[in-house]
Amino acid sequence: MLCLGIEGTAEKLGVGIVSSDGTVLANQLKQHIPTEGIHPREAAQHHADNIPGLIKKSLAEAELNLGDIDLVAFSQGPGLGPCLRVSAITARTISVSKKIPLIGVNHCIAHLEIGRLKTPAKDPVMLYVSGGNTQVIAYEGERYRVFGETLDIALGNCLDQFARALKLGFPGGPVVEKLAEKGSYIPLPYSVKGMDLSFSGLMTASLKAAEKHPVEDVCHSLQETAFAMCVEVTERAIAHTGKEEVLLAGGVAVNSCLQKMVSTMTGERGAKTYVPERSLLGDNGAMIAWLGLIMHKAGVRQKIEDTRVNQKYRTDQVNVTWRPPCLQKTIKITPHPNKAHTTMGVWSSPVMTSP
Ligand code: AMP
Ligand code: MG
Repeated sequence: MLCLGIEGTAEKLGVGIVSSDGTVLANQLKQHIPTEGIHPREAAQHHADNIPGLIKKSLAEAELNLGDIDLVAFSQGPGLGPCLRVSAITARTISVSKKIPLIGVNHCIAHLEIGRLKTPAKDPVMLYVSGGNTQVIAYEGERYRVFGETLDIALGNCLDQFARALKLGFPGGPVVEKLAEKGSYIPLPYSVKGMDLSFSGLMTASLKAAEKHPVEDVCHSLQETAFAMCVEVTERAIAHTGKEEVLLAGGVAVNSCLQKMVSTMTGERGAKTYVPERSLLGDNGAMIAWLGLIMHKAGVRQKIEDTRVNQKYRTDQVNVTWRPPCLQKTIKITPHPNKAHTTMGVWSSPVMTSP
């Protein structure tokens, strides 16, 4: 079976083709470069203008025709509404005109599943750090649970906003990484709240620090502080779940300083860090196609009316029916006796006990 996957949650447009044996036959990407932050309608216009060409390029890369495709998948959310709708409309059009099934998938879970496909990671804690998302995710009780996440802006957005304010260019992450190599540490606010993270204060403090410190020092310290926060939450997720693998995902995860910090932490705990190849780390169409394929194989079917986009599609909203029982973690989860009947629900405060 061949699946064409369309990714278009934010400024990147991706079209990938994957076969059911997990071979990536095509993975084309086109990025909208905004002048002043991402304007959702401008990004959506970019996607609408480029999607026919990108589908053609993808089919050419895979040496296929549209008629050879058996399934079409798209990012249903989370993301920017106008961008999501371009991918959804395109996917629905292909589905109806070619009479093939259509499947809307969760973008964050697609990152995790392509990592499980293309690295040796089987049951990882995923540190997902991108332009629009920052989450620490792991599989428990038939769902991908969010163990920690940003309370305000995503880490990539923090780097992008910082770089934009200092006119360093877009995307900010690679520029900050380069400058950080020559910098020294200055203290900046470190903000981990329970298992959650906050980056907006750190970004403001970094901009203030740049008024009196060399930009290299601020970039270095911004990275050190933000990455240490992510590593702390990831480490606690590992300790909590007993898992032995960390999977990195998202565009920020290409950063070699972050990769080193995560590897040091997992090394100290006897765990392993896995990083998918660069083209599969950031947003891409192949991961959407792969998740579509495994969901379809597990029996997930959607009608057109089920494919409405969901800007706030939560990672833990999806019933993970495609993971075989042998991969279900041996940790037993029981509701906390004191919290089971609160309005926050049992999942707000699970107690995990090893069997
Ligand atoms: P994504 O949303 O997953 O496509 O990732 C895009 C984000 O990754 C943007 O916020 C970029 O600034 C960030 N990014 C890209 N390269 C790097 C890097 N080398 N270091 C840190 N962040 C990066
Ligand atoms: Mg992403």
